[in-house]
Amino acid sequence: MVRDPQQNAFCLPGGKICVYTGILPLTANDAGLATVMGHEMAHATCHHGAERVFKNNMTQVAMMGVQGSMGGMDHHQQQLLMGMLGAGAKFGVLLPFSRDHESEADHVGLKYMARAGYDPRESLAFWKRMAAHSQGQQPPEFMSTHPVHETRIRQLETWIPEVMDDYEHATKPVTAEAP
Ligand SMILES: [Zn+2]
Repeated sequence: MVRDPQQNAFCLPGGKICVYTGILPLTANDAGLATVMGHEMAHATCHHGAERVFKNNMTQVAMMGVQGSMGGMDHHQQQLLMGMLGAGAKFGVLLPFSRDHESEADHVGLKYMARAGYDPRESLAFWKRMAAHSQGQQPPEFMSTHPVHETRIRQLETWIPEVMDDYEHATKPVTAEAP
């Protein structure tokens, strides 16, 4: 979590997820934040980021991400990396993921949040808040790489029933377990 008013979140090549505090009003609740985290985690576990960064020849950023976690860096190194990523974003390196990658991240992310005990139905509410926000004068930065298409909403609606079992299992009280 980075204290910064930007309404954004992204995944580093090494799998570290960076969430700016600015996006918290949009995530609104824990399940909303779990939607963003699950989605970004899925980009990481499906290796979307690494693929994309190498494609864009940002080898240096990738190396930093792979070699050391953000947590292992001192403040100055973190600032440097964030600056590089910021510059990358400006020069179009942090391009939107392809529709396929986005769909995969939504699908896998939904499973992650359900298994972690967050109501997967909240993901719909989050993306709808994002869509509503995109109409504003200053759409969230997250929107530029994560446009809310009708397909995104429609696919989530079809996938939610698949993960409800996982969610119910994760939230079942321990006392209900068989001895
Ligand atoms: Zn994404």
